[in-house]
Amino acid sequence: MNSPLPPFAATDSPAAFKALPWHNGFARLPESFYTRLAPTPLPDPYLVAVSDAAAETIGLPPVELRRPQAVAAFAGNHLPPGAEPLSSVYAGHQFGVYVPQLGDGRAHLLGGVVAPDGRVWELQLKGAGKTPYSRFADGRAVLRSSIREFLCSEAMAALGVPTTRALTLVGSDTPVFRETVESAAVVTRMAPSFLRFGHFEFFYWHNRHEELRRLADYAIDEFFPECRDASQPYLAWLEEVARRSARLIAHWQAVGFMHGVMNSDNMSLLGLTLDYGPFGFMDGFDANHICSHSDEHGRYAYAMQPKIGHWNLYCIGQAVVPLTGDVQATQAALDVYLGEYETAIGEQMRAKLGLATARDADDALIERLLEVMHANRADWTIFWRNLARLRVDATDPADDAPVRDLFADRAAFDAWAADYRARLKREASMDAERAARMNRVNPKFVLRNYLAEAAIRKARGDDGAPRDFGEVERLLAVLRRPFDEQPEFDDYAKPPPDWAAGLQLSCSS
Ligand code: AMP
Ligand code: MG
Repeated sequence: MNSPLPPFAATDSPAAFKALPWHNGFARLPESFYTRLAPTPLPDPYLVAVSDAAAETIGLPPVELRRPQAVAAFAGNHLPPGAEPLSSVYAGHQFGVYVPQLGDGRAHLLGGVVAPDGRVWELQLKGAGKTPYSRFADGRAVLRSSIREFLCSEAMAALGVPTTRALTLVGSDTPVFRETVESAAVVTRMAPSFLRFGHFEFFYWHNRHEELRRLADYAIDEFFPECRDASQPYLAWLEEVARRSARLIAHWQAVGFMHGVMNSDNMSLLGLTLDYGPFGFMDGFDANHICSHSDEHGRYAYAMQPKIGHWNLYCIGQAVVPLTGDVQATQAALDVYLGEYETAIGEQMRAKLGLATARDADDALIERLLEVMHANRADWTIFWRNLARLRVDATDPADDAPVRDLFADRAAFDAWAADYRARLKREASMDAERAARMNRVNPKFVLRNYLAEAAIRKARGDDGAPRDFGEVERLLAVLRRPFDEQPEFDDYAKPPPDWAAGLQLSCSS
């Protein structure tokens, strides 16, 4: 299935690229794990955005990424020296149903670059053309969804949530056909590895257990080396995957992030947020909020995410039973998730509340708060941010206005706030110190759908306006500092305006 690589002229490459050291670990695996192939060139690419933070992470001067040769490279039009492009095969459970073959249908792994700190970051082009795993699709991505992935990757990283990163976003006027005609784009993603639960499912379900073992050994050696020394390396590894997944999803819940399509092929082995599609951040709190309109039954609703994380672990767990040789021990390793999640969500929520200590009754306090927030659809981000302004000794309810006014049922909030104050007094909480701590975990700015939508409309030049990427750039800058006040950007912290009330997110991307 190998296709020849396109001729590559080294002279096309900016000097900074030539100097990049590569470590292409995945490409050293046997060819049964992937197909080597080149990206499909994208005509007349233009630069939409660069993440300077991501560039610096891998030691590339951001200015280099703004050169035309870099734009061409990240459009898939020529290869940086050292790249060995390939697309990998995987399977997965989609909405609970096993799908025997998926794979990188529109992703080309270029290889891994070694950052100045010695860490390896794989670079992957998303949207750079068909691969043997494209099934009936076109291998492309549209500008709309690519802007969302680009911005959210970098926003999540700034929030401290484990995630794949985004280095560049390039566009092209090449038409791409979805519900309507849209234009094409390529996001260059970065991660230590793009391995998914689904990679292991593929080799298990196809009865290729030797390759399954090879892949697990690769993953352990490269990304979980500490598990090598355990008495049962495969079990230790699964346990670590379970722990990372638990901490990841607890963090999602805390920032009000909904992935939207938590299929097992979208679950990162490293516990990273992966594959940004119809994701959303919670506006008014609705525990049952569903952010993708193709998720009719709410399988991936906000409140379901923790359970689905566990369910997905059973997919990879089942797949590696041939390696562990022990179903019960495998289950026990996966079930570490449950305790880890409880611990992680407890820590997240106590930090959000500004509690410095842990007490048994905290769970009930949190539970009641979520009920009242849900009943009142209190804005998730604004509530937590403004809660830091509550003063323990305030006696006039009007003093609580910045949070209290988010609740139509003021009495319900007052009752909860009385208990919260009592709890804060028990640990002699100091207002200013607590507020400073809270503002380091409760962001002021998240990528609300309406913000992304406004940037998309300008970037596309909707309604005949000239194409304008300035809003993508501005949003990126704001979201890279989500915990800073940035008063000049107060508008970006507002709940959705009326025009955004009916925004529907489709899976098509
Ligand atoms: P997703 O729902 O985006 O996680 O994708 C599920 C599967 O479909 C993956 O194997 C993707 O690579 C593939 N896929 C999604 N969109 C496209 C596309 N436009 N072209 C080719 N493959 C795609
Ligand atoms: Mg996917």
